[in-house]
Amino acid sequence: MDDRLFRTAMSKFATGVTVITTEVEGDVHGMTANAFMSVSLDPKLILISIGNKAKMKGFIERSGVFAVNLLSYAQENVSKQFAGQINDKTAAQFTEFAGLPVIDQALANIACDVYDSSVQGDHTLFIGKVRDIVVTDADPLTFYSGKYGMIS
Ligand code: FAD
Ligand code: NAD
Repeated sequence: MDDRLFRTAMSKFATGVTVITTEVEGDVHGMTANAFMSVSLDPKLILISIGNKAKMKGFIERSGVFAVNLLSYAQENVSKQFAGQINDKTAAQFTEFAGLPVIDQALANIACDVYDSSVQGDHTLFIGKVRDIVVTDADPLTFYSGKYGMIS
């Protein structure tokens, strides 16, 4: 099957946008991801899917922890920065939450310990056991058909 057909079909599944953050030896790293889902209530587990060539994969394997930051509509440039689409180091401010670097002003910051991981094709699935969560009230950034948008 053609890659374009697969991507086009997947792009018809409207999602929010997250930035995954972690820290290794004092270096904070962020990466934009929309492959995120809730997995289990007891225990509280979530899942992310990270490309095997992404630097984030090695960072999470080394740190054993990551945070999922759900972006608000005002944070399109944050998504672009952590997808390498712009170069603006001031696009996002980090704060510390539950021992992890998180993105300020996100809809939610979900701090996790790696619970399990599994290489599947050209991606690695990381299951996170939720350590703590903070939620704020704002409209979400959405991603659909390759374009950013908002729910009004
Ligand atoms: P890099 O490419 O080196 O880092 C990403 C960018 O973040 C770079 O521009 C870097 O300068 C910047 N950055 C990193 N840390 C900091 C910091 N501390 N301060 C400021 N800037 C920093 N890929 C997946 O594997 N899974 C997904 O679910 C996924 N979803 C995506 C959804 C969307 C909407 C988009 C646009 C992209 C998605 N990607 C996904 C692709 C992924 O975001 C890119 O391939 C990304 O560049 C991979 O990052 P990396 O870890 O290899 O590191
Ligand atoms: P796109 O048309 O490349 O992506 C549309 C949809 O296809 C995405 O929402 C995702 O569900 C899927 N997809 C895209 N690349 C994938 C990959 N390598 N592995 C598995 N699923 C993938 O949208 P775009 O706006 O051109 O994306 C910008 C960049 O971000 C592209 O380089 C794309 O590959 C990357 N991206 C990667 C993933 C991912 O790895 N899961 C997800 C979204 C975007």
